[in-house]
Amino acid sequence: MESKTADSFRDHIGTIDEKGKRKWIYAQKPKGRLYSMRSYTTLIFLVIFFGLPFIKMNGDPLFMLNVIEGKFILFGSIFWPQDLFLFGLGMVIFVLFIALFTIAFGRVFCGWACPQTIFLEMIFRRIEYWAEGDATTQRALNKGPWTSEKIRKKAIKNSIFFLVSFIISVTFISYIIGVDKLIQIATEPFASHTGGWITTIIVTAVFYGIYTRFREQICLVVCPYGRLQGVLLDRNSILVAYDYLRGEKRGHIKKNEKRTLGDCIDCDQCVKVCPTGIDIRNGTQLECTNCTACIDACNFMMKKVGLPTGLIRYASENGIANKQKLFMTGRMIAYSVVLAILVSVEVFLLASRSDIDTTVNRARGLRYQEMAEGKIGNLYSIQLINKTHRDIPVQLKMDPEIGKIQMIGKDILVGKESIAQGMFFVVRDKASITKRKTTLEIGIYSGEKKIKTVEASFLGPLSR
Ligand code: SF4
Ligand code: SF4
Repeated sequence: MESKTADSFRDHIGTIDEKGKRKWIYAQKPKGRLYSMRSYTTLIFLVIFFGLPFIKMNGDPLFMLNVIEGKFILFGSIFWPQDLFLFGLGMVIFVLFIALFTIAFGRVFCGWACPQTIFLEMIFRRIEYWAEGDATTQRALNKGPWTSEKIRKKAIKNSIFFLVSFIISVTFISYIIGVDKLIQIATEPFASHTGGWITTIIVTAVFYGIYTRFREQICLVVCPYGRLQGVLLDRNSILVAYDYLRGEKRGHIKKNEKRTLGDCIDCDQCVKVCPTGIDIRNGTQLECTNCTACIDACNFMMKKVGLPTGLIRYASENGIANKQKLFMTGRMIAYSVVLAILVSVEVFLLASRSDIDTTVNRARGLRYQEMAEGKIGNLYSIQLINKTHRDIPVQLKMDPEIGKIQMIGKDILVGKESIAQGMFFVVRDKASITKRKTTLEIGIYSGEKKIKTVEASFLGPLSR
């Protein structure tokens, strides 16, 4: 049989035992300053998450990520497949942002803003504490026989879990199809929206399964961000860390005894509150979501025995080893500046994106046409994509010294969120043409407002 070493806890994740069996975590309910702060953060998150799909701008949702129809709305602006480069750039900026943020600030996002942590720790676990009692009572309940009391508690808890999963599921779906479509599905006969209902039920079942059984395993084995921590964090990254210099050698506190040991009184409170089942005193571990529950638990114990708080705290590994207080290092400031620049670039690109996308092409297979009164004409096709929520009448103009635009048919009206096409001639005096191929600038106008300028090549007779 293999012997255990000091590091053997790293051979398997905290929720799996040596035999590969899942260890169910009965985490004690945290309480303390950080838990209260996380509760307020949760409130803000919930207001945003559940409220955002209802906010509209010009009749469309403020945010919609309709991957099914390829329609994306961000801050009320519609993005089309033609804006793919903006998304591509956005993704690159996002990945860079995540990498730099994590190198500097560790898993702060996991503990404070990740929807998985917020739903599991701040909503579902609270419902569980309310329905089944604290960690010890839950353990006893699960181990005990199926009495009427146990059936009642389990039924209440699971019904609420299912209801909350359903609410999360419909909100999640509303980010994809929009609230209006969701209301349509809910109010029209079931048979007209069988697919919509089946999707809702499947998504609800997935959320219910995650928060009832799978729980912290999402962070430990599924989440790609969690898996990246091993390569992103270094000894200067901020973590929830145990000050081993101050805490060791650990040992129980004894009344009226002059303490010669370290400050850790080995009360195990930090382990008991940990929702991923680890002992932070073993050092940085991939299971730690930086939820800060152990900081609160340890601070509570430190105050109780009259020792300074902060034995477990936000710190870097080097900070602990060098007994340094947490401060903004040059690296953090530099990364924050880079992050701010990246975000500014993306915001600038989004803000400067034009309302209309235009493509002008000379008619295929045609060179130029000799026209009356010594004029030369080139035929063009134009395609306009209106990315806004309003109809846009469009006129084409060019410098009258160079040539004249003759529309074939009426001026173009590009309907909201639509594509319009048209044909037009550019007519020039033959005498003014000095080159076989010239590049012309055509102005796209809506009323007096110039939307953009496009370039088109004009072919004339061979140069004289
Ligand atoms: S070690 Fe502490 S911060 Fe990390 S997951 Fe456990 S309780 Fe949360
Ligand atoms: S809560 Fe603090 S004092 Fe208690 S075991 Fe954990 S680190 Fe030691």
